[in-house]
Amino acid sequence: MIRTALALGALLLTSTASADTLVYNANGIQVDGSGNVARFTGFVIGNDGKVVRVLGAGEPRPKAASAIDAGGRTVLPGLIDAHGHVTDLGFAALRPDITGTRSIAELQQRLRDYAAANPKVTWILGYGWNQESWTEKRFPTTADIDAAVSDRPVVLERVDGHAIVANSAALKAAGVTAATKAPAGGEIHDGVFVDAARSLVENAIPKPTLEQQDEALAKSQEILLGYGVTSVGSMSTSVADWQTFRRAGDAGRLKVRLMSYLSGTESMKAVPHPTDWLYGDRLRAAGIKLFADGALGSRGAWLKQPYADMPDSRGLQFHSDAEMLKLADTAAAAGFQVATHAIGDAANAQIIGVYEQLSKKYGAGRRWRIEHFQIVDPVDIPRLAPAGIIASMQPTHQTSDRLMAEARLGPNRLAGAYAWESVLKSGARLAFGTDFPVENPNPFPGLAAAISRQDMSGQPPGGWIPSERLTFDQALAAYTRGGAYAGFAEGKIGALEPGKWADFIIVDRDPTTVDAQALARTQVLETWVAGRKVWERPTIVPAAQPERGK
Ligand SMILES: [Zn+2]
Repeated sequence: MIRTALALGALLLTSTASADTLVYNANGIQVDGSGNVARFTGFVIGNDGKVVRVLGAGEPRPKAASAIDAGGRTVLPGLIDAHGHVTDLGFAALRPDITGTRSIAELQQRLRDYAAANPKVTWILGYGWNQESWTEKRFPTTADIDAAVSDRPVVLERVDGHAIVANSAALKAAGVTAATKAPAGGEIHDGVFVDAARSLVENAIPKPTLEQQDEALAKSQEILLGYGVTSVGSMSTSVADWQTFRRAGDAGRLKVRLMSYLSGTESMKAVPHPTDWLYGDRLRAAGIKLFADGALGSRGAWLKQPYADMPDSRGLQFHSDAEMLKLADTAAAAGFQVATHAIGDAANAQIIGVYEQLSKKYGAGRRWRIEHFQIVDPVDIPRLAPAGIIASMQPTHQTSDRLMAEARLGPNRLAGAYAWESVLKSGARLAFGTDFPVENPNPFPGLAAAISRQDMSGQPPGGWIPSERLTFDQALAAYTRGGAYAGFAEGKIGALEPGKWADFIIVDRDPTTVDAQALARTQVLETWVAGRKVWERPTIVPAAQPERGK
């Protein structure tokens, strides 16, 4: 009785002292439950930061304690990047920027500049080189890096995260000599350490301090919110990352919602089971991330047939079928969702087979995830849906990789490459992301690539394998509802609907009325999470003083 009276009192209190906020005059665009774009003109946000109701065209404005005029601008639900590396993005932003270099000479110049500007940095760690983008078209060497910086260790990671190059000071600190042999699953070539061989050098790198980790997370959140990303499938979350997320949550500094997939079954020693949602649905330990193979760029992707441009290699198989099954089953038995990196067609076939077996044991409702699903034998695509397997894919990998994929596979093995439309047509679920910092976290070039199969400059004309293009509705769905479903969060995020969080963004154009080129250049103006503005595009104030120098 007392309980009922209290509950009634609470109910009266909220209805009389309501502090609902009305957002009105919006050009609202989202994807409805049947997968089509649905328009809205506004919505009401409750005290708790959740959507109370959504308004369609012509509906009268309800009364609310406060009101926000969207000014006719376009409003979208907050975007979900289903696969990104959160602290890596922050660290990458705080380290020398070597992404987008066009030659080894340019890489060397950026390293010299960074070293001169950061004399106190004892180990220079960089990320993002890609020999495919260099005029030399060759891997960097220890001598190349020594020529730029030789007074302290330098370790630079390739854009795909599967290979590193080290200078002499780093090799010396790591005790690596010409006689050092690569372990199984790895390779060493003249200062480049691939996959399992990386640890020979990386074990010598001093661990970042807690302060540096907190700084990286803060930087990462700022970048993500600026691109309209309000939720992330946080992939390969290390135990240190998880503790960083917890510190931020405890201190009220988590803004982006993180669905964490912890790195490997060894993480289960620290986090033995999935957690509930924490900090107002800002953080959850959702799953375990596994790897079935390497990446295509460094020819570590495990293929059914040899590489067209390296006929004696089929890439790197990380685990036997039995080992892969055991790893995935260990995670699943503890209640975790399993998310497995698979790039090559052999790796994809292996993990599909593993998930098929686990679906028989645990049911298809476990939402098994394959991360990347890049190069797939078309005969394997129809196996996804019956086993409840989600393809977690990154549209900008297609535009970045297409020439490399053609070189690695030859023209006749591309039918199942980056095959978004084939995935949807097979009845399977799709979730989109960027794999940041492998690609820029900006979702709009991804949406544009998804509908055009073209890069930011419109290449190639007509789109690469254009039969795999998606409609805008399908692409936006994969970036909103698809990402929510892939993280068991469809009841909370992915759409502005009653009971879900008021996570939304205001952008500078209507994405349904512009071409792919313009869609890719969409700018986010404001980002809101749980009904609060957490990011706003800085207004550029014209310089009052004349520019000094030239
Ligand atoms: Zn990744």
